[in-house]
Amino acid sequence: MASGVHFLIIPLMCPGHLIPMVDMAKLIAQHSATVTIVITPGNAARFGSVLHRAVSSGHPIRIRQLQFPTSGYGLPEGCENIDDLPTLNLIKNFFKASAKLQEPLEEMFNDLKPRPSCIISDKNLSWTADVTRKFEIPWVIFDGMSCFTRLATHNLLVSKIHERVGDFDRFLLPSLPDKITMTKSQLPGLFNPAKSADAKEIRTLHEKIRASESQAYGIVINSFEELEGKYLEEYRKVKQNVWCIGPFSLSNKNDLDKAQRGTNCSITNHERTITWLDSQKPMSVVYACLGTLSQLTPLQLIELALGLEESESPFILVLKGGNRTEEMEKWLAEDGFETRVKGRGVLIHGWAPQVLILLHPSVGAFLTHCGWNSTIEGVCAGVPMMTWPQFSEQFFNERVVVDVVGSGVGVGAESVVRVGEEDAGRVQVKRMDVCKAVKMIMDDGIEGKTRREKGKYFREMAEKAIEEEGSSKVNLKLFIEDIMLHMNKGLQD
Ligand code: UDP
Repeated sequence: MASGVHFLIIPLMCPGHLIPMVDMAKLIAQHSATVTIVITPGNAARFGSVLHRAVSSGHPIRIRQLQFPTSGYGLPEGCENIDDLPTLNLIKNFFKASAKLQEPLEEMFNDLKPRPSCIISDKNLSWTADVTRKFEIPWVIFDGMSCFTRLATHNLLVSKIHERVGDFDRFLLPSLPDKITMTKSQLPGLFNPAKSADAKEIRTLHEKIRASESQAYGIVINSFEELEGKYLEEYRKVKQNVWCIGPFSLSNKNDLDKAQRGTNCSITNHERTITWLDSQKPMSVVYACLGTLSQLTPLQLIELALGLEESESPFILVLKGGNRTEEMEKWLAEDGFETRVKGRGVLIHGWAPQVLILLHPSVGAFLTHCGWNSTIEGVCAGVPMMTWPQFSEQFFNERVVVDVVGSGVGVGAESVVRVGEEDAGRVQVKRMDVCKAVKMIMDDGIEGKTRREKGKYFREMAEKAIEEEGSSKVNLKLFIEDIMLHMNKGLQD
């Protein structure tokens, strides 16, 4: 369908950004458009299995590697991904190092055949705008956030209502299609900045990113119209060329692709978990995973674990590596937690095959930090969700799950956890809050049933969106056609 058109995809090297962009690359290539995805060697090793399978299935996907410049930026040797950072305080160093990819990318550009027709880059890589200007091709950004977040952010910037309310006063988010309330303490850093010098530098960086966004020709969003149609419609009044082409995770059709999203681990590594899931009753298991960059203190994680234990439901709890791992592992060894929950609770230390788990028929609920990928993966699985947002736009996503989809209950998180201020944050969510949320979500009464029905409805809608005449499939065709028009016009000029 799309011969001659060539998309150059530049992801931010961070799981929550790279994983959906790899999925998106596969979706675009299914339309016979050539796709080149640029990653660094470490990330190629980690994310390559899924990509190589897509290449060998005959789709026109290519992988090009650029060395990531760690030296001179205060980053540990071999650190090529934000989830490799020993502390998120180094995030600004990571962004500076990423910007050094501009020169080698420009050198690579002329070797690429056919000549790229468009760059789709993560919105955080604003230097890619310079590359598109130099080579006179459209710059399309991938945001990684929802239409709800984009619209709510825009409206807050215009109304500035957050400047006139107290930190914990509930206020109505301005000019949204639904009546939705939040507090200032739940808003992303843009509206609710931390005070440290580091935070100021990060804020300046984000302001630069936001300013550059206005130069983008368009935006592709990992969402679908049946979920966010009203928000998309309003947002289109603010920004032209917005294409909702998700949910991207549904591009993974077989178990191997689902299991290897974000990891090069073989599927056999997860056999124990899947066999255990097979042995559980349908829709009985709580899957708890708080994303890749979680800021929770060991004390808070312990409350989570004890809350799951108290709930008496079977569960899977994912514990990520990171600088706090040792304290948590020490507690586990001393407390006897794993022995007490043996047979009823499974702990995954490290990377979990999230999409594979969520789609398992035994999973009955998802306790999530509301990263947008996890949120939309929960929607695709049709499972009710317990929401525990932590930072960035995650409290907006909580509102999508609870108020728009109607399949969620909050565990009671009240304010964002800021980088560098984790320890100051008291234990926000106690074990009894977790236990109460699990009991509510597993409830067989009318409310629980309604949440499950809503979840099921949106799951069906998500699946339809990527079918042949589905909204996202049609939007993707329109997007590719739009870029082809540009390309043909460029050839005539
Ligand atoms: N993920 C996974 N296994 C894990 C943790 C995360 O597969 O153990 C995936 C998850 O499915 C999602 C992504 O990593 O696609 C995380 O993105 P999200 O936006 O949910 O959160 P972030 O980690 O960026 O805060």
